[in-house]
Amino acid sequence: MIPHYPLFINGEFKEIQNKQDIINPSSGKIIAKVSVAQKEEIEYAIKSARDSFDNGPWKNLPFSERKKYVLKIATGILEKAQELAELESLNSGKPIKESTFMDIPSSAATFDYFANNFEKFLNEETIKIESQIANAEAKLIREPWGVSVLIVPWNYPLLIASWKVAQALCAGNTVILKPSSLTPLSALELAKIVKEAGLPAGAVNIINGSGDAIGEVLCSDSRVDMISFTGSNAVGKKILEYTAKNVKKVTMELGGKSAAIVLNDADLELAVNGLLCAIFLNQGQMCTAMSRIFVQDKIYDNFINDFTQKAKRIKIGSALNFETQIGPLMSESQRKKVLEYVKQGKKEGAQLLCGGDIPQQEGLKNGFFFEPTVFGEVSSDMKIFKEEIFGPVASVAKFSSIEEAAALANDCVFGLAASVWTKDTSKAQSLAKTINAGTVWVNTYGMFFNELPYGGFKQSGFGKELGKEGFLEYTRIKNVVIDKTQDSKPLVNYWYGF
Ligand code: NAD
Repeated sequence: MIPHYPLFINGEFKEIQNKQDIINPSSGKIIAKVSVAQKEEIEYAIKSARDSFDNGPWKNLPFSERKKYVLKIATGILEKAQELAELESLNSGKPIKESTFMDIPSSAATFDYFANNFEKFLNEETIKIESQIANAEAKLIREPWGVSVLIVPWNYPLLIASWKVAQALCAGNTVILKPSSLTPLSALELAKIVKEAGLPAGAVNIINGSGDAIGEVLCSDSRVDMISFTGSNAVGKKILEYTAKNVKKVTMELGGKSAAIVLNDADLELAVNGLLCAIFLNQGQMCTAMSRIFVQDKIYDNFINDFTQKAKRIKIGSALNFETQIGPLMSESQRKKVLEYVKQGKKEGAQLLCGGDIPQQEGLKNGFFFEPTVFGEVSSDMKIFKEEIFGPVASVAKFSSIEEAAALANDCVFGLAASVWTKDTSKAQSLAKTINAGTVWVNTYGMFFNELPYGGFKQSGFGKELGKEGFLEYTRIKNVVIDKTQDSKPLVNYWYGF
């Protein structure tokens, strides 16, 4: 029996007639049917989040109570960890090893971290002003924005949803979560966990629907106070237009074309193994994928030989097999897009060193698989160098001086992340300062921590997720000023001479 997933609004599950099929990208088969929110459900979700914020208890709960509820969500995720990992891999094509050891435990850890730290981050600050004309004391108070709409992509469905829901809730907001309509299943399982945790009705609402159908209504509604968006630049720009209609807080975590710089003195084995991970993990469908790899001239040949040989050995297979190292792409249209980029790379003269095609093995025929692909001799005028492919395609190029490497890395409209590979960490640190990206990893990749703010520069967006700085995006600051003029009245009392 194919499972049916309802929406979650005002603390209740709501199954509606209009449903969509959810596809397993490893097999092309239907694995679930999910209710699709129509006008009526969107209205209900906004009303419920609004009422819950304005009249409900969530924002007014003692911090200790808020913390208890959020910790229950963390525990709920861990209790269902295996089931959630399987579901995430079934729905998104992410290899089960990644869902099991990264996505699901990290999702629980984010709820846990913010539950244990939000009180400290919300601490009021007092500022004393003592000047010739005034003495005052100001209290800086951190408040929730109100109703927050959280829109997430399909590449890390539960993890990115958890980042946003944990931070928004801990800050005291009420939430409408909209997962990608390709991967809504883990978010709708999260709804069950929220329900079991007993959160007040309306504090969390989770609705499904295609962005084109429901995005504008959700984002432009004047009852919504904040949009936290993670996704593509094309959609990000649309959301900026929708929200301009009545001005609201927006954060944008957008695309990337991240650069790795491998210096002559790098540990070659570490750089090769690390960068295989940095481009082929999750089939390269990572916003921070190191899709541009710059290798210094003396080690270029050794690097490229080793990197290509190892890329050829990566095991392609069904996402649910623990041996699988690379699963299917998310959809047939995603695979077509990747194939187009590969054709374009060949046409523009890049050297195809491995992959570049749809694998023909038995058992892979019905899924959306694509071979790990490596291009050498890539130059900065090529499309595969400039644009986000969002697939398992590495573009490798040679450089001579460190200055040239920094210029190549910065020759990009995006600025999400970068990595530097060298045994000389002080050289790495000075190079990191010249790179125009929000995160620079040294001799490693993908180290996201709940403690550290993450987010891009340039067209990779604005605003942060995680860390104190990311959490504070979900709050607004109020400045309450009290006059403290000693033994007299403040200047306003005398201004008109009355
Ligand atoms: P997408 O922009 O197509 O979709 C993202 C979300 O926006 C989905 O929930 C989708 O339904 C919704 N959406 C689509 N049209 C909309 C509209 N008109 N109004 C409102 N919402 C709408 O992105 P995707 O294909 O799901 O994800 C891939 C993209 O996300 C890549 O560009 C990747 O780099 C980016 N991404 C960025 C980060 C980051 O942290 N910077 C993280 C993960 C993914």
